[in-house]
Amino acid sequence: MIDLRSDTVTTPTEEMRRAMARAEVGDDVYGEDPTVNRLEEEAAAWLGKEAALFVPTGTMGNQVAVMTHCLPGDEVFVEAQSHVYWYENGGIARLSLAQPRQIPTPDGLLTPDLLAAAMRPANIHYTTARLLCVENTHNRAGGRVQRKTAFDALAAFAHGKGLKVHLDGARLPNAAVAQDISLREAAEGADSVMCCLSKGLCAPVGSVLAGPREYIERARKNRKVLGGGMRQAGILAAAGLISIRSMMPRLAEDHALAQAIATALAQLRGVSCDPAAVETNMIMVDLDRSADPVVEALSREGLLCGTAGPQRIRLVTHRDVAGIAPQDVARAFAKALAQ
Ligand SMILES: *Cc1c(COP(=O)(O)O)cnc(C)c1O
Repeated sequence: MIDLRSDTVTTPTEEMRRAMARAEVGDDVYGEDPTVNRLEEEAAAWLGKEAALFVPTGTMGNQVAVMTHCLPGDEVFVEAQSHVYWYENGGIARLSLAQPRQIPTPDGLLTPDLLAAAMRPANIHYTTARLLCVENTHNRAGGRVQRKTAFDALAAFAHGKGLKVHLDGARLPNAAVAQDISLREAAEGADSVMCCLSKGLCAPVGSVLAGPREYIERARKNRKVLGGGMRQAGILAAAGLISIRSMMPRLAEDHALAQAIATALAQLRGVSCDPAAVETNMIMVDLDRSADPVVEALSREGLLCGTAGPQRIRLVTHRDVAGIAPQDVARAFAKALAQ
C-alpha cells in the first residue's frame, strides 16, 4: 500500500527509536525531565522565541495558544478554512469562550486588506478584537505558502491594530524549506507559534508552542488545565529532538515528489491538477465526479488518499513514501477512473 493520506502517517526513524529507548527521563510536571527541558530550549531557539512548551498534539498547542492570548468574549480572527477553526471541534468557543470571526479567502492567504475589512472600531456593542491566527502552510488550501514578506506585512498590520498574532505552523518547516529561509525567519512576525514534530518531521507524537517567556509560563498552566501535563515525556521528546535537529532539510524531497506526481496527474483525462499550485508536499486533485468512490477504487489499486471536498482528493507526500514512482500514482488514478 502507498499511503498518501497525510504526512501524519510517518513512522519514527530507526535513529528516533534508538534515542527513545535510551532517553534520560524524569517527571516533567515537576520540571524534572532533562530531555523535555532540552527539547523546549532547542525548540525556542529553532523558532526564534524566548521559550517553548512541549505539547502532545498540534490541536492542543493551538488551543492552549488561543486560551493564553484571550479573555472570554474576545474576538479571534481566523481564515475561514483554517485548521484552528475548521478541524478543532469548536475549541475556540468551548475552551477559550472566545468568538472566532471567519475571514474567507480564495487561497487561504489572509491579507491586511481582508483583515481590515473584517475589523470594527471600538464600540460598546462590539467584542474586544484580540487575536489573529494565521496558518502556514495552509492545509485546506493545499499546502500553500504564505511568503515571509506577506506574513510580516500582515503581522505588522495586525499589531498596529492592537492584535496579537498566533501562527499555526503545523507545517511551518515546509513553508520555510519552500522559501529557502530558516524557521525563525518564517516565524519572526508572530507573537506565538505552534509547530508539529509529528508530521513531515516524523516524530511519533508531539508539537511545540513557542513565544515570550512570560506567555509560555501561562501556557504551561493552561496545558495542565487541558490534561496535557505529561510525566516521563522525555521518551517522546527524544524523538522530537531528532525532528528539530535533522529532519527539516529532507522536506525538499517531499516537495519535489509532490511536484512530479502533480505533473503526472495533470496529463490524465477527468482530472484537474495544477502543478503550479503545488508549493509544498500536498497535491489537490479535482475530479469530474464524486471523490468517495474514486478514493475506494484507488485503495483497491494500492493507493490510500483522502478527500478535501465532494469532488476533491488530497495527496500528501512524506518520508515513508519517498521511493515511489510518480507514474505509479498516475497509473492507479487512470485505473480507478476507468472503473
Ligand atoms: C495537523 C494540523 C494541526 C493539528 O495537529 P494534530 O497534532 O493533528 O492535533 C493544526 N494545524 C494544522 C494546519 C494542521 O495541519
